[in-house]
Formats: sequence, C-alpha cells, structure tokens
Amino acid sequence: MKITALESRRYRLPLAPPFEAAWDPRPRQHLDESIVTVHTDTGLRGHAGGAAAPDLGLLETLLIGCDPVDSDRIFDICQSVDFHGGRNWTVEVAVHDVVAKSLDQPLHEWLEGSRSSFPAYASTGERLGAEARAERTLQWREQGIRAIKLRLFHRDWREDVAIVEAVRQAVGDTVDILVDANHGWRMPGDRSPRWDLGTAAECARALADLDVFWLEEPLDPALVDDYVRLRRVATLPIAGGEMVRTLAETQRLIGAGAFDVVQNDVVLAGGVAGTRRVAESAKQSQILWSPHTWSTGYGLLANLHVALAFSTAPFIEVPYDPPGWSPARRDFMLPAPLEIAGDGTISPPAGPGLGVEPDFDALERWRVG
Ligand SMILES: [Mg+2]
Repeated sequence: MKITALESRRYRLPLAPPFEAAWDPRPRQHLDESIVTVHTDTGLRGHAGGAAAPDLGLLETLLIGCDPVDSDRIFDICQSVDFHGGRNWTVEVAVHDVVAKSLDQPLHEWLEGSRSSFPAYASTGERLGAEARAERTLQWREQGIRAIKLRLFHRDWREDVAIVEAVRQAVGDTVDILVDANHGWRMPGDRSPRWDLGTAAECARALADLDVFWLEEPLDPALVDDYVRLRRVATLPIAGGEMVRTLAETQRLIGAGAFDVVQNDVVLAGGVAGTRRVAESAKQSQILWSPHTWSTGYGLLANLHVALAFSTAPFIEVPYDPPGWSPARRDFMLPAPLEIAGDGTISPPAGPGLGVEPDFDALERWRVG
C-alpha cells in the first residue's frame, strides 16, 4: 500500500449561544475544525480530525509513495514538518486509520489494546458558579458519571476552591474530582498572569484537603525545576504536558520528575507513534500517561483508541459540559455523537480504524474550505 494524496476539508459550526470556555479570553462564537483524508493506491482512505493540518501541501509532497505501515518513517516526516510549521498530527492519525482499516481491525486492537471501553471523566469547560456546578454534577452522577474535572478560572484561586468545595460537599466521595488550573499555556494574545510556584503550592494544599484526584497544569511547563519542586511538596498528583510540542521536551519533563501524570494529545503533539513513546517513557518512570482530548469528536476518538491501548490512568478525559459543550456540538463532524454510557464508560464505535466514516454529504452545510 502506498500513500497517493492528502486532502483536507474545513468546517465551521456556529455556536449560538456562544461557549464561554474557562480558558478563552472571549466567548467562542464558532467552532472551526478540519477532516484530513489520506488516499492510498488500494482505494482505502483514512480520516482524522480534531485539529487543522496547516502544512498539508508540504506533507503531501513528502508522504506520497510512503507505505502507511512504516510508522517510524511517517512519524519522522511529520515531526520534521512540525518543527518548521504548525501541528499537523491529524495527518499521522489519518495514516493510522487507513492502516488499521487495511487490516480490518479497530485502531485500539491494532495497537494491541486489550479492552474496548474506558471509564470516563467528564471534563468541564464552562464558567459556572458553585451552586450551579454542584447541581450539574449531581445530575451527571444520576446518569452514571463517576469522575469530573473542574476548571479554575478566577483571578483569585480561593474563589475556585470554593466551587470545588461546594461540589465535594454535594457529591461526598461518590464522584472523583480532578482540577485543571489551566496555567500551562495561554490562548493567542492572552497575556493574563500565571501562577508562580508559591501560589501553585498553596492551592495544591487546599485541593488535597478536598481529596482532589490530581491538579493539572498549575505552572508553565517551561518551568521544569518549579514543577519538580511543586511535586516534592504537593500531597496530590500533578498532571501536565498537554500542549508540550516535541517528544524530546516531553521526555525531558518526565525524566526530570515534573509530573505524576503526563498528558500529550495524539492530534496535537506526536501522533500515535509519538504517544506510544511518551507512554513507554511514562511507564519506565513509574508515572501515568493519560491523554488530553479537548478538541472535537475526532480528537477525542483518536485519543480514546490510543488510551485503550496505552493509558495507565483510571479514566479518560471526555470533554463534556452541556449545554455549552454538548456531545452534539463537540462531535458535529462525527456521524453520531460519542456518549458516556450508564456505567460511566466510553467506547469507540465498533469497526475498523477509528470506527467511523465521515458523512461528507451531511457535513456540506458546515463546509468553509
Ligand atoms: Mg488540561
């Protein structure tokens, strides 16, 4: 099998009412996403999405004629393009989709995963007050959700801790609570201040008292030494690394002892092959690997397959905060939304590759390029 062409389709879903993400400086009015398609000489096609591939033309030139099964070569080419350009890892994931399809296997099986569903944690995104957040969590518990992640968004972390406390009081020990400080990176143009080590340590202490499962991205990952110091004093696990770009940087953070949980996202950093290496490094260092999955349905799906094979964490992130971030919005490019089942787990659709085939005709109404 040989790669013969790459193709991309861009879509824009209007968000009315807008989505007020905890990490966005202004409400999100629309959702821009792409589906990347890899064509082969067998007629089989692979698809992936969840992040645009800005250097598609260059990648097409370099990948035409390659055997999709040669994952090291595909990874090296994608990595060299990533160095000079944007994050193009959806291309690498689309290549994996076509490889698994050619073997008539779900991607997670081809990656030698031994299970087909994974416990989910509902990863929230909206700015919501304590009472509303506690109520919503109780509702979700009735649906079977057993773990949630709360985002901090106030200038003063004490206001956020009050929300965590309200949720903990409401659910007792029936729901695991994770917390994402969102200080690992900023959206374009956002110059709002980030925590320093002292603030992170103080907040970590308060969250540990509320039995929080992990604290995510309390600091800029460039501050490797501060992460190491924080981890020494913190009494709850520290997670991070979701937007760290290169394999080398991620492995340096793991090697330094910066994290208890490392969280690269297959469509944003490293693809499937790079993630396999990150997961192996994590295992050797006796820390957990658990993917960041917050893009759209295709991104969640790719990370879910890889998590089924490599994740060592007790649950996987599932972006979920309806009505602002509903499965219908998140998965608008998928033929059907992925749902957390009544037992709190999530599974990919059965079928080879990622388990979905895009309905391009139905998607035409959102097409912008
Ligand atoms: Mg995060």
